[in-house]
This record gives sequence, structure tokens and C-alpha cells, in this order.
Amino acid sequence: MDERLNHAPCGYISITHEGIVRDVNQTFLDKMGYKHEDLVEKHFESIMSTANKLIFHSYFYPFINLNGHVEELFINLKDNTGQSIPHILNGRRFVHEGEEVIDCVLVQMGKRIDYELELRTAKKQIEEAYWEKDQAHAKLKQIHKEIEHKQKELMNMNSILVELSTTDKLTGLRNRRFFQEKLEEHIIQFSTTSEPFSLLIIDIDHFKQVNDTWGHQTGDDVLENLASILQLHSRADDIVARYGGEEFVLILPHVGVTDSKIIAERLRHAVAHASWKTGNLTVSIGIATMDSNDSDVTLLKKADEALYFAKEHGRNRVIHCIDMNE
Ligand code: GH3
Ligand code: MG
Ligand code: MG
Repeated sequence: MDERLNHAPCGYISITHEGIVRDVNQTFLDKMGYKHEDLVEKHFESIMSTANKLIFHSYFYPFINLNGHVEELFINLKDNTGQSIPHILNGRRFVHEGEEVIDCVLVQMGKRIDYELELRTAKKQIEEAYWEKDQAHAKLKQIHKEIEHKQKELMNMNSILVELSTTDKLTGLRNRRFFQEKLEEHIIQFSTTSEPFSLLIIDIDHFKQVNDTWGHQTGDDVLENLASILQLHSRADDIVARYGGEEFVLILPHVGVTDSKIIAERLRHAVAHASWKTGNLTVSIGIATMDSNDSDVTLLKKADEALYFAKEHGRNRVIHCIDMNE
């Protein structure tokens, strides 16, 4: 055999039409661990598994007979240890010295198979990673949903807490803290708009006697009823609050001196003519209307002085601070 063919960078086997190996190059022998005599004059199928023999019979020979050549036939050949080595085979029918032979070139596929295996493993890993990503994404979505839900709950709780912290427990009216905040807001607003507003302090007359005669629980009921009356006779933007004890305060937005007296009188009248299980019940009301010199302290002080004046002058009456000198 030609020296270059003997050491060509691929296997070379020449077989008869019956499959007897006539010649084999050194490259193939070295790669597969055979000696020359192991293969020459032996049947090519002696280094094939049964399955590969079948392929050979059903594809290789018919194709060669029909076309004179075979290309890229994938076939496993056993090496001298019996291990299956994948090969690509190209074969061509040839007449040599009067005998018909089939020359075959064989290239080992080991590396390609390894690459394919690596590719398949990588593909599987990518698929797994995608699956995990999808799982994580779904979990994240769920967590987001839960967080949103919790946030809503928290906001609800917050508004309930704010409501509670600004509400008087017994009467359900706004408490003193809320009133104080609103009063300050109105005063700030007044400094820019000069829109008048009035402040009413309402105090139950002789309430101590109610408690003393009817008991503290009845006293509480009276406070609740009075709160309802005040609420009922107020507009939506009026601030009605329990200032403490049996004292109530109202902020009347957009209400000047004259109207404040009318409104207070209406309230006083409503209380005096309501039916009380304790008998008669009256309130005294002190009013102050916001003036540009006033602060929350002075406004409250003026209304309180007017209330004191009303008490001094017989109770069950309304006094505006500007009328105190009369
Ligand atoms: P005046 O006409 O001068 O206002 O007399 P008064 O008796 O209403 O005033 P005083 O300040 O002497 O008494 C107020 C009473 O209100 C005393 C207190 O026991 C009662 N009081 C304060 N807070 C509550 C409450 O939450 N529930 C009840 N039942 N009584 C209360
Ligand atoms: Mg009082
Ligand atoms: Mg009182």
C-alpha cells in the first residue's frame, strides 16, 4: 500500500463484494488496536455488532450495488477490547486487478459524539434553568401579590388606627386632639383667605347633678344623646368634637358673628326641647369668631370666657364674646 495512504489521517479498508478485508491501513489498525493479520482476509462484519451487521446488509450493499458508492454511513465498529467506536463511512466500488473491491474511508466520530452529548447536556441544563426561572418568577409574582395584599391590609389598619386615635370612645365624635389640629388648620387657612369661621364651646348645665341623681351610666347616656343632637344639627364640613368631660366644641367654617349666634341658638334650643329621661337638660354656649389678631389660644380663651359669661348670667343661653360687655 502507498505509504501516504497507509498513514492517512483516516482509516482505510478495502473489502471484496463478499465483505472479506483485502487491505487495511495502519491508521485504522492503530486507532482500533488491531494487527494487520487480525483483519486481513477476515470478514469486515467480524468487528460489527449484530445490529450494525443488519444495517450493513440492508443499506450498505444494496446502495453500493445501485449507485457504486455510499456516503456518510454511520456505523459502530468494535475495537480490540470490544468497545463500540462510532464511525462515518464513505465507500466506493472499484475494480482492482480484475477484482471488484469496495474501498472504504472511516473517520472516528468519538469527538463529535462527545460534543453532541455535551450539547444535549447543556440543552437539558438550559431547559432546567428556564424551568427554575419560571418557577421563581411565579413564586415572585405570588409574593408580590401577598405583599400588595398585606400593604392594603396595613393601609386599612392605618386608617382604622387614625380614625381611632381621633375619635372619642364614648360619643363617637372627634376628640380634642383632632379638634386642635383642625383649629390650627383653619387658622392657617384664615391667614391666606380671611374666610371667617366661628368656634363654639358647649357645656352641659349642672351636669354634676345628673350624675349625682341618676348615676354615672345615665350621665354617659346623656353625653351620647347630646353628641347625636349636635351631629344631627351640623353641616358636613362642621367639626364637632368632644373637648373633654361634658364640654363639646364646634368649628363652623364660613360662619361669621351673626350666623354663629343663630346656629348656636338653634343647638341650644334643640337640646332644651329634646326629651331626656333625666328631665330637663340645657346647655350654655360660648362663641368666638376668628379675628386677624387671634391665635388658637386666644380664640379658645374668648369662647371660654363667653361660656363662663353665659353660666354667670343664668345658663341655658348663648353668648358671643363680642357681646359680653352688654
Ligand atoms: P355647670 O353648669 O357649671 O357646668 O355645672 P356642672 O355640674 O355641669 O359642672 P361641673 O364642672 O361642676 O361638673 C361636671 C361634671 O361632669 C363632673 C363630672 O363627674 C362629669 N363628667 C365629666 N366627664 C364625664 C363622663 O365622661 N361621664 C359622666 N357620666 N360624667 C362626666
Ligand atoms: Mg364643664
Ligand atoms: Mg357643665
